[in-house]
Amino acid sequence: MLNDLSGKKVLIRVDFNVPLDKEHNITDETRIIRALPTIRAVLDQGGSVILMSHLGRPQKNTLEDGSINRQKFSLKHLVPRLSERLSLEVKFSNDTVGTMAFDKALALRPGEVLLLENTRFEAGETKGDEELAAKLAKLADVFINDAFGAAHRSHASTTVVAKFFEPEDKSLGLLMQNEINSAKKVLNSPARPFTAILGGAKVSDKIQLIEKLIDFSDNILIGGGMTYTFIKAKYGDIGNSLVETAYVDLARELMEKAADRNVSLLLPEDTIAGNKFSRDADTMICDTMKIHDNWMGLDIGPEAIETYSKVISESSSILWNGPLGVFEFEKFSNGTFSIAKAIAAATDKGAFSLIGGGDSVSAINKSGLADKVSFISTGGGAMLEFLEGKTLPGIAAVT
Ligand code: AMP
Repeated sequence: MLNDLSGKKVLIRVDFNVPLDKEHNITDETRIIRALPTIRAVLDQGGSVILMSHLGRPQKNTLEDGSINRQKFSLKHLVPRLSERLSLEVKFSNDTVGTMAFDKALALRPGEVLLLENTRFEAGETKGDEELAAKLAKLADVFINDAFGAAHRSHASTTVVAKFFEPEDKSLGLLMQNEINSAKKVLNSPARPFTAILGGAKVSDKIQLIEKLIDFSDNILIGGGMTYTFIKAKYGDIGNSLVETAYVDLARELMEKAADRNVSLLLPEDTIAGNKFSRDADTMICDTMKIHDNWMGLDIGPEAIETYSKVISESSSILWNGPLGVFEFEKFSNGTFSIAKAIAAATDKGAFSLIGGGDSVSAINKSGLADKVSFISTGGGAMLEFLEGKTLPGIAAVT
């Protein structure tokens, strides 16, 4: 990160896209907590901080008359919590680039923090509008991008804004650097054996990642809804399980490619099937290749948990992306939580474990093991794209 920020106004793009309940209370403040080190580092150097972020999708969820729901999607709801965490009174601007933002930014003194209103209240944000980016840039001397969760987007406040700063006046923040370093630990010559655990709903979302992982993994453990596309490719009976028919051939090719490269790509031997997609479904344990008609695979079974846990316990680096079953329903959560436990135990023995964003993060939080793994990514889509080897525009713009 930049140093010598004394007396400078520092515009920081953070990812404050936190979940809020109906009363606008923050239900998970992880993203705020993870942004604090960079903010504190700037303040400690004697700079002042102007924070900008998006929150939700206000342009897609407008009021009946088509106008922005400024109450629901306002970042003002975060001010009390952020003030508490920083032990100072965070100032707030009701607009993002209007006169209030400009005046408040101008009046900001070293050690003070100003939060701008939701960047997505501006229609130009997601279009990467240059005029909007230029107005944002005018507010500050220096730009720091610390919003890893939005780094795969070329939006005005994440990427385009960086154009208006000289190379010596822009950089990544501390969270971004940590995210990148952690991902590189698995991407560039990981400690071996390296095991990737992939779950989640769809194989189509993760195809590119699986292809890439085959190049450098020792083990790939498959779970979640994507399992059944692979089982179909092996001519198994999958009942009513989730399947992406268009990807069956590709799943077969991936298994062949893994075999050619001596990568152990494992599918769960057994499955917990349900008679409906519901938290009160009847359940049965069955061979994953022989799921009964009208039943659907909703979690990995006990044999698979044992096999996968053993592979994980023998691994020196681990990447986990996506739950192994429908962990939101208690009856189908055992596989996901057991794998979380196995990862925590391997980490305790010295393995490096990266939880790659998205639903596996809520699963690890729910399991109470969040502080027992090496690194939890704040970016779902961004982490996937980074691991796939893509250049993320939000990173490229400041480096
Ligand atoms: P993703 O966003 O692709 O990581 O998918 C996460 C979602 O996959 C979670 O909401 C899970 O409930 C869902 N999921 C996991 N396993 C299954 C399964 N066997 N069948 C259907 N959905 C699943």
